[in-house]
Amino acid sequence: MTSTTELGTSGSSAILSQDIEEIASLFTVTPTDSPTPDDERVAKLDSPKFGTVFSDHMARISWRRDDGWIHRRVEKYGPLQLDPATAVLHYGQEVFEGMKAYRHADGTVWTFRPEENAARLSRSAHRLALPALPVDDFIAACAVLVRTDIAWVPDAPDSSLYLRPFMFASEPFLGVRPADEVEFLVIASPSGAYFSGGVKPVSIWVDAEYHRAGPGGTGAAKCGGNYAASLLPQSEAATKGFDQVCFLDGGSNTYLEELGGMNVFLVMADGSVHTPELTGSILEGVTRSSILRLAADHGRDVVERRIPLTELVDGLRNGQVSEVFACGTAAVVTPVGRLAGETFDATVGTGEPGDLTMTIRRELTDIQYGRAADRHGWMRRLA
Ligand SMILES: *Cc1c(COP(=O)(O)O)cnc(C)c1O
Repeated sequence: MTSTTELGTSGSSAILSQDIEEIASLFTVTPTDSPTPDDERVAKLDSPKFGTVFSDHMARISWRRDDGWIHRRVEKYGPLQLDPATAVLHYGQEVFEGMKAYRHADGTVWTFRPEENAARLSRSAHRLALPALPVDDFIAACAVLVRTDIAWVPDAPDSSLYLRPFMFASEPFLGVRPADEVEFLVIASPSGAYFSGGVKPVSIWVDAEYHRAGPGGTGAAKCGGNYAASLLPQSEAATKGFDQVCFLDGGSNTYLEELGGMNVFLVMADGSVHTPELTGSILEGVTRSSILRLAADHGRDVVERRIPLTELVDGLRNGQVSEVFACGTAAVVTPVGRLAGETFDATVGTGEPGDLTMTIRRELTDIQYGRAADRHGWMRRLA
């Protein structure tokens, strides 16, 4: 892995690896002709609604089948002009990522395990017949954008600059085949604390009617289409009064998979920590893998396996399951207070956030915000 931090390396101004800094230097930065005035930006950074405010610039790399990745640049944030025949609008050939840039107390800006997001983007791209983007290009694009829009990285508690890298088929062509023209972009959206009034447990509807993914499908890819498939189940669950949906496996409708955009964990009364194993239809979360590590650090047994819904329901009733939480980059760790489906309705523990849930949440955010030692070498300094 080339992207080791070089903090403290005397004589080097590089804060990412030399390889990434070299790629970063290939980006042409064209500053916007209409930067957001300082007072307006400060107002926008004050508790923005998630995904509604964007920084002044975006990073962009184009791909042509004959040329590979070309034209690395950072330019003014703004609308894309697309031909109505653009392939992504018809066949959904698109993948994306979600990461955060965190401002530490000393003003430096860091991100969390970006190599994992970069590698996952290329795995997702492979499934969607899109080109792989080198890890160094991915991290360099994020770094150059964050450096250009450094003033957009908020410093309020639990706030961050959310980064949304994405890649789509930009070729205007209605034939059904992988596109020969692709765009990769990174946009940045300042985001406030996910739980503004303190961490609050969510309620989950376990859906036995719809699936977000099936065997051999695109469940393990982070693609827009999976989200499109989860919107109707999500809104039907909301109508029933639930915050989120948990999907079961599409093959047998028996085992827990995940939420529309978060992985799920159980903490058992014996202290062990369980999460559905990656069967090919579950998205491999970076938060999930980090939590498996942190739980193991606590000396907990961590188990990745198939978890039948019936076992969860029985466990909630007889006390063998003591905590349930969901996890992902945006919300980090979200306690689950209630789970229900067609045939059951159960409170998790007392309905309040569990102890391990909150401990893991704190440990992870302490590492991300630089309040605790980065003992696993997960943080990369961007600026
Ligand atoms: C992004 C995502 C997650 C969480 O992944 P992180 O890397 O932890 O943010 C979980 N499930 C789905 C379906 C996702 O798209």
